[in-house]
Amino acid sequence: MNDLSDFDLKHIWHPYTSMTQPLRCVTVKSASGSRLELDDGRSIVDGMSSWWCMVHGYNNPRLNQAITDQLKSMAHVMFGGITHEPAIKLCKKLIEITPPSLQHCFLCDSGSVSVEAAMKMAIQYQYARGKGKKNKFLTFRNGYHGDTFNAMSVCDPVTGMHQIFSHTLPKNYFVSRPECGFASQWSKHYIEEFARTIKRHHRKICAVILEPIVQGAGGMNFYHPEYLRQIRALCDKYDLLLIADEIATGFGRTGKLFACEWAGIEPDIMCVGKALTGGYMTGAAVLTSSKVARGISADGGVFMHGPTFMGNPLMCAVALASIQLLEENNWQQQVAAIEEQLRRELSSAAELEYVQEVRVFGAIGVIELKDQVDMQTIQPLFVENGIWIRPFGKLVYIMPPFVISTEELDFLCKQLLTTLNEYYKQGE
Ligand SMILES: *Cc1c(COP(=O)(O)O)cnc(C)c1O
Repeated sequence: MNDLSDFDLKHIWHPYTSMTQPLRCVTVKSASGSRLELDDGRSIVDGMSSWWCMVHGYNNPRLNQAITDQLKSMAHVMFGGITHEPAIKLCKKLIEITPPSLQHCFLCDSGSVSVEAAMKMAIQYQYARGKGKKNKFLTFRNGYHGDTFNAMSVCDPVTGMHQIFSHTLPKNYFVSRPECGFASQWSKHYIEEFARTIKRHHRKICAVILEPIVQGAGGMNFYHPEYLRQIRALCDKYDLLLIADEIATGFGRTGKLFACEWAGIEPDIMCVGKALTGGYMTGAAVLTSSKVARGISADGGVFMHGPTFMGNPLMCAVALASIQLLEENNWQQQVAAIEEQLRRELSSAAELEYVQEVRVFGAIGVIELKDQVDMQTIQPLFVENGIWIRPFGKLVYIMPPFVISTEELDFLCKQLLTTLNEYYKQGE
């Protein structure tokens, strides 16, 4: 280990880590396509797309070009009172590709911030209509919407990462996580608790917020589209807005461009982030219907949010290029091929004694174990076996870049299963 790595260990916080008992990080020197190059010369296959983001792979020539071209005219300019072509082109594109009723776009700097903005919009919308008492949210358990305060308040209150803050967070309404799997037989009892909760509390609720179809970091759970259709109808019936958090699911990951399309519904507010920029920059956006956008200003108010780096031109330029590349690369085919291969190569793991369930949906493969894994042991094992996977709790999951080759994905799946076997052999 070298001095830099030691400094990192002592002084630098990484996501969800301890400063007293940190795990040593691997040092990545460069990355291209679906591979990470480590400082010790090893090259490993990436199974995470850097948390859903790098759909076109690392060091993508087109995205590199988009950023360097933009850099020649300007890296940044404030968005208050100023506009520019990259932002206009990106918003136009987002409005084109998202559900038709979403006609207004708010750019911001990260997924969590977009969730904060979406929640503020819902509250302001109801307030402007004289319904200031409607200021709570309703959501599923096992959800994940980010780490800032209001986002935390709608993350799973128990399994979420935020129990410590529970007393300082705004109190919202929760119903059980969706139990009916994506391809399972729907029955109307699945929506009863949701319907009951809305009926009882709608006077205090401004919006339902949820991750459509795929619950990500809160449980990697894939649920039936009928939930979304029923919830859309309930929101209309009881005068609530529907916020779809597509930060993880957006831009093709589930096999539709946006997961809402599986149910054929349109939300009132939609958050996008993560793969928006092809993983190149931090960036997110909130899209809303005209009903919401005009409603917020019905009493003469303005929407009270404006991040310093809103509409950053580098972010906009690379996001636009990423969306164009998605279209040119025929992402449906890429995702369908990954899905097919994941099913083929991972499904046998369901027979293993330590495996609870194997789930595959779109370009996402999940192995749910019976017990939590010990990161200290398993993380280095994955790397030794030539792959990058970052499990949490009982969930070992992969969501590779869309550009991963058949051979690389084969290697990733095989080495994943090899590592699990080695890990459980060690524990015996
Ligand atoms: C990652 C994620 C967020 C938070 O985004 P950040 O960019 O990390 O702030 C919110 N919602 C969902 C569904 C996510 O997957």
